[in-house]
Amino acid sequence: MVHRVETVSLMSPGPGTERVLTVHRFGEPGARPKVYLHAALHADELPGALILNRMIGWLRAADEAGEIHGEIVVLPYANPVGLSNRIMGYHLGRYDLDGDGNFNRWYPELSRKIGNHIGNLLGDDEAANNTVIRKAILEAVNAWPGEGEANTLRKALMALSADSDFIFDLHCHGEAIQYLYFPEDHWERYGDLAAELGCRTILFFPTDSGSTFDTAPTMIWHALRERFPDRPIGETPFTTTLELRGQNDVGDDLALEDATGLWRFLQRHGMLAGDPGDPPGLLCKPTPLGGSDNLVAPVAGVISYRVALGDWIEAGEVVADIVDPAEIDFQKARTPVMSRATGVLYGRTISRLVRPGQSFAVVSGSVELPPNDYPVIDY
Ligand SMILES: [Zn+2]
Repeated sequence: MVHRVETVSLMSPGPGTERVLTVHRFGEPGARPKVYLHAALHADELPGALILNRMIGWLRAADEAGEIHGEIVVLPYANPVGLSNRIMGYHLGRYDLDGDGNFNRWYPELSRKIGNHIGNLLGDDEAANNTVIRKAILEAVNAWPGEGEANTLRKALMALSADSDFIFDLHCHGEAIQYLYFPEDHWERYGDLAAELGCRTILFFPTDSGSTFDTAPTMIWHALRERFPDRPIGETPFTTTLELRGQNDVGDDLALEDATGLWRFLQRHGMLAGDPGDPPGLLCKPTPLGGSDNLVAPVAGVISYRVALGDWIEAGEVVADIVDPAEIDFQKARTPVMSRATGVLYGRTISRLVRPGQSFAVVSGSVELPPNDYPVIDY
C-alpha cells in the first residue's frame, strides 16, 4: 500500500464550525510494528510540526519504494482546536479555552473496563493475547463518550494511536535545550533515540500512572499484566515525549536535524529500510523525573536569570532573581530563587513575568526530591 491521507472530524463546538485532523498513513494497514507520531498537541509548540512535515515527504518516497516495515501514522498537527486559540494576536495552545483543561491531560483510564472485558479471552499465547488486548483498547476508546470538542480530540488521538507499538509525542518547552521524557523500562534497547536527537537532559518517567497522552496506553498494559499475572502479555508500548527545544526554535534547519535523527532511529529498529550506521555518543546520563526541580516564584515580579540554559547548577545555587521594579533599593527589589537539585537548567518559561507560586524554570537532578510543600502553578 502507498500513502493515504484521511481527515477525522471533531465534534462541532457550535453551528457552522468544524475542525478536522489530517492523518497521513504509510505502509500496510494493520501491519506490525505500528508507529505513531504527532506534533503540537500543545498547539503553541510548533518545532515538531516542521519535523513531521519534513518526514511525510520522505515517508511517501519510502512507501512507494516498499521500504516501510509495518505501519506508520503521522499527524503533523494534533490539535486544530488549540491552533485556533488566538487572542488579539497572541496564540495560546496549551489549554482548552472552553474549560476542558490542558490538552495533554485528562486522557481516560480504561484499564479496569478493558480487563473486565478480556479476562476470559486471554490464553497461553502471547501474540494472540496482544491482539485481543489491542482490539479491546480500541473498542474501549470508541465507547468512551468524550463529550465536547476537546474530549473528542482526546478520543480521536487515542483511537489513532492507542494500539501502537511506538508512540512519539512531539512537544517543546517555552525555552529549552533539547530533552525528552523516556520510559525507563525501554532504555537498554532504545536509548539511542536520545543520542540521535542530541538530548542534553533525559528524564526517566513512570509509565504506570498519570493522565497524559503518552501514559494513557502504557497504563493499560501495566494494569493488565498486574491483573492477569498467569497470562503472557507483551511489552508495554514504547512511548516518549520529545521536548524539541523552545517555542521559538522553529525552522527548517533544526527540523532537518531532528527528522534525520528520528529517521535513523526508525531505520536502526527495523521500521524503515536502510543502514543508519552507529548512533552518536550520548551527551548526558538519564535522570529521574522526580529528581527534577520545578523552580517556583515566591513573589510576583520580573525574572532576571543569573545563569543560562544548559548551565550546570549546584543545589543551593541562585538561578534567578524575581524583581520588584518599583523597589528603590536594588538588593531589596530582588528575591533570589535557588535550585534544590544539582544538574542542568534545561527549561524556562518564555515570559519574564511571574505570579507567586508559578513554576518558571526546571533543573534536572539525579536524586529524587521531596515534593514542593506548596502547590505549584505550572504553565
Ligand atoms: Zn507540551
